[in-house]
Amino acid sequence: MTYPIPDDVNTMIPYQQALELVLSQVSTLEAEEVPLVESVGRVAAADLCSDVDISPFDHAAMDGFAMKASSLASACADNPVQLKVIAEVPAGSVYEGPIAADECVRIMTGAPLPAEADAVVKYEIVDYLKGDGREGSVVAFTKPAEAHENVRNKGEEIAAGQVAIHRHEVITAAGVGFLASCGIATVPVFRRPKVGVISIGSELVDITCKPEAGTIRDGNSHALCACVAQAGGTFHRCPTVPDDLQALTDVVLAATEECDFVLTSGGASNGDYDFIKPVVEANGTLLMTLVNMRPGKAQTFGIVNGTPVFGLPGNPAAAYCGFEILARQALRKMQGFTNFQRPQVKARMASFRKKKDPRVIFLRATLQRRDDGDLWVTPAKNQSSGLFGTMQQANCLAIMPAGTNPVEEGAWVDCVLLHVEEGTVL
Ligand code: AMP
Ligand code: MG
Repeated sequence: MTYPIPDDVNTMIPYQQALELVLSQVSTLEAEEVPLVESVGRVAAADLCSDVDISPFDHAAMDGFAMKASSLASACADNPVQLKVIAEVPAGSVYEGPIAADECVRIMTGAPLPAEADAVVKYEIVDYLKGDGREGSVVAFTKPAEAHENVRNKGEEIAAGQVAIHRHEVITAAGVGFLASCGIATVPVFRRPKVGVISIGSELVDITCKPEAGTIRDGNSHALCACVAQAGGTFHRCPTVPDDLQALTDVVLAATEECDFVLTSGGASNGDYDFIKPVVEANGTLLMTLVNMRPGKAQTFGIVNGTPVFGLPGNPAAAYCGFEILARQALRKMQGFTNFQRPQVKARMASFRKKKDPRVIFLRATLQRRDDGDLWVTPAKNQSSGLFGTMQQANCLAIMPAGTNPVEEGAWVDCVLLHVEEGTVL
């Protein structure tokens, strides 16, 4: 741990420390076996070895003629070497007969190189003296061939018993093909975390309801379920809970029994009706309550029943930002990913920005490359933490560092790329 744990859980901590704390409380989950194609995007939970050499035999890399390279040693434009075509080998067949010095075999891409041949010359540079190049023809070569020319060697990619994909490697679509060649039909991958998502607030009604006086639709649980799915987890949307200590206790306890991680939103401040902190404190260990960030400094985290519980703020953009900056990485770690960081780029601020709030501010913003070749970042006009729409339109979070120094127009700032997977090299 880089940061000392504060004595008082109500101390406001830097977001980097909050992240470190959350990550320290989760471990990679156990392995599960999935059908090969479903392993794409997942993390290998074991070293995956091939049961064969790949390729399993020397084979032609092109359609052409196979012969002993030595047969063509004297070939030149003035004195072409003539060879008789004595057989044809399509892919999937084998030619096991002899090949004399004045003979060759017509061969197709992927067909095994005959035992007595060591080179393949492509059709395009061969002249047909008699016949059409098939069995019984005579063909002429005007250049020597190198041994192994146009031949893919047995075991060129991997030898039987070697590791094709290592434990903790992310399996790509190409990796799925590689594993298929290695004879691996089901793959051990780290399990996806099951994440319980709870919206807290007596004002919340379901999507299907038209909100009446004093109520609003619950947007957060849907957004957070979508965030969980995008992070690779599975979600369990729990019933929405009113601002009531007992009701929240019941739903949180049930969720911690059933899930690997619990996300709540709302009721995370110190108001009369904010109950997530007392629930975590009374039923487990409260580890964090305040983070030096905006939007959303009220970020609660603790352990209940051995399960991490993350209490995000209720304001939609604050909840989203809290998930992106502090919770998503934990879900990635649980799945065995080793690179937790969304890629960041430096971009130039499109307009001067004052900074009255000394917290680190994550501005919902849009990155664009301008004609000058630089990346420029334009923050959404309305940065209210109550808005979903500006989050939908943003493609990054521009970071304004702690303190009250303004950011000049054209100054370089760090931007977290949303929608770009961790580990992407830009
Ligand atoms: P709270 O964190 O509970 O004080 O809520 C802050 C603001 O976010 C209030 O205006 C709530 O009505 C709103 N809010 C809380 N939960 C949700 C939710 N699930 N969906 C949309 N807005 C919410
Ligand atoms: Mg509330």
